[in-house]
Amino acid sequence: MNLQTGAKVGVFICKCGANINSVVDCENVKSYASQLPGVTLSICNDYLCSPDGLMQMREEIRKSNITSVVVAACTPRICEKIFRDNIEKAGLNRNMLHVANIREQCSWVHANEPFKATEKAKNLVKMGVSRAKTLVPAEGVDVELKQEVLVIGGGVAGVEAAYKLAELGFKVHLVEKKPMLGGNMATMFTCLLWCHEAPGKPQSLNFRFGTFPACDCSGCTIMPKLNDVITHPNINILLLSEVKEIIGHVGNFKVKVLKKPRFVDEKKCVGCGNCAVVCPVVKKNEYDYGLSERKAIFMPYQQAIPRKYVIDKEACLRLNGQECSACVEACEFEAPNFEDREQEINLEVGAIIVATGFEPYKPRIHGYLGYHEYDNVITIMELERMLDKAGPTGGIVIRPSDGKIPKKIAFIQCVGSRNRKINAGYCSKVCCMYTMKNAQAIKEVHPDTDITVYYIDIRAVGKGVEEFFHRTREDYGVEYTRGRPARIIEDKETKNLIVRAEETLLNKITERMYDLVVLSVSLVPSEGTQELASMLRLRTSPDGFIQEAHTRMKPVETSMEGIFVCGCAQGPKDVPESMAQARAAALEVAVLLSKKVAKAESLNAFIETDKCIGCGLCVDICPYGAPTPVLTESGVKMKITEALCKGCGTCVVSCPAKAIHARQFTDDQIFSEIKAALEAE
Ligand code: SF4
Ligand code: SF4
Repeated sequence: MNLQTGAKVGVFICKCGANINSVVDCENVKSYASQLPGVTLSICNDYLCSPDGLMQMREEIRKSNITSVVVAACTPRICEKIFRDNIEKAGLNRNMLHVANIREQCSWVHANEPFKATEKAKNLVKMGVSRAKTLVPAEGVDVELKQEVLVIGGGVAGVEAAYKLAELGFKVHLVEKKPMLGGNMATMFTCLLWCHEAPGKPQSLNFRFGTFPACDCSGCTIMPKLNDVITHPNINILLLSEVKEIIGHVGNFKVKVLKKPRFVDEKKCVGCGNCAVVCPVVKKNEYDYGLSERKAIFMPYQQAIPRKYVIDKEACLRLNGQECSACVEACEFEAPNFEDREQEINLEVGAIIVATGFEPYKPRIHGYLGYHEYDNVITIMELERMLDKAGPTGGIVIRPSDGKIPKKIAFIQCVGSRNRKINAGYCSKVCCMYTMKNAQAIKEVHPDTDITVYYIDIRAVGKGVEEFFHRTREDYGVEYTRGRPARIIEDKETKNLIVRAEETLLNKITERMYDLVVLSVSLVPSEGTQELASMLRLRTSPDGFIQEAHTRMKPVETSMEGIFVCGCAQGPKDVPESMAQARAAALEVAVLLSKKVAKAESLNAFIETDKCIGCGLCVDICPYGAPTPVLTESGVKMKITEALCKGCGTCVVSCPAKAIHARQFTDDQIFSEIKAALEAE
């Protein structure tokens, strides 16, 4: 076993206030540690990670010429980096640290057994001291940080992050798979309900119900930002584009983007729509959830940014070998371009932000609620489009079965949320509020509409939201009924809907008739999230959203250095929260790239080239893509990219030639701990 000669180990025990010290007898651990061979000093501190605690640690290291350090404190996930930075400031190599977790592994799990918890803490410290004597210094490599950023997703979060970074001077590539920016927020445009001719509707209304709780117009809110982004000299917008490959590491990611053809020259198209008037192909408009029709050449919705037409490759007659030039002839700007082709664009960026957002849950699986089966069962997203003055029904809510204005409407909450049977136990956070917003909007136009909301419980959290809930009930007279509907049955003649529910406050089963039922559907990860996560080697949480590195302390970082997440890609959230997270992600990127050069941690694995037999097992098995083949004079050998390696040790145990070693988990280090653990007192 390779031991440091003349090792002088310093043991620093953190009481973590009462967190550790109320169970573990820290003074006892300190005395015990001071007797261990090789230990030069052993001290306790109330809060070792506080500025005072860190300063004391540095002073003691310098005063006693300590060569390696054992910190007995909380989980290394939280404290390891702090203490590595600190011993480096004290003049030690940052690798000369071992953390013994005496909080999560002692005081927390053995809270009712203080004696045993203390004995376990002593053993962990003894093992740590033994290992600390085998530690060797190592230097991390310098990584040059490219000053360009990739933002994936052009919804509110992606746009905000891109704009902030561009303002800070970074070149940003904003990749969006749709033909326009703005994501879901842009489709919940507004409810400008004024002067339309709906029967029984009061004249001259002018209300806006785009977002809650302020009820301001989402279009008016997001449009200026989209315009800023579209005209920003530092932002390269790639619409109709998808990331196909990403390799590399923090500071130097190589990205392949596939840009699909628009078949309309963006520079020439003025959005006049003359082409669509003459196009003979009629299709359901997916951007209006099938509530309107569009042509093969179309603009997704009236307020789309950019206001440019796009040709649907599958629907266009000419692109499918038939004779048609209607749009070409109608366009005086010669914008239709059938020579447009798919392009592969290669980018090199220093950091990536994933902002792929959400999509509304498709409630087909809820067959008992009759979606797709009954005309008058719609989702809230369809209702949002109806309530848009520029939408498919001009701002009027109608029954799809007969176009009549419904007099009795039921909203059903939590469709696709809080339902473990479909692996969606999570709350979508915004559905309670968007139901309130839309119920208020309907009542403004048609005050005589009866609205009932079926709910499990109301989660109205956030500034002004509880008040918003009370306004919905008290000022607008919306009825709230606690209970989850068990079944919806259609009256075949009238197409009315009978909602059968257990009303839990009344403790009885009721059946009530409605003209229209609106399903308040959940937010689910956008299509392709899992594939993108695999490509980027990111973890996803059980609900399928991108997993952040630490829920509280690293909410926008991911398991991969240099890759950040924001908005609904990380989990359901409202617009203000998405904006705040987007700004946080932009700030993290700016802080990272501002250094220009970063030092990678030296906790990585390395390969003894002479021993490598080139089998490639490590390449397949590494979760971070760190090993790559290189051609040497003695054949193909593997090399580990230090900036990618996290030192997890997976390849070390898999290598049949025992050619790989993890610097922080060498055999010497592991056996030294085992030996100490088994040693008799
Ligand atoms: S070529 Fe014909 S079918 Fe195709 S988009 Fe133009 S008008 Fe429509
Ligand atoms: S697993 Fe080992 S022997 Fe095989 S390629 Fe990787 S380092 Fe070489």
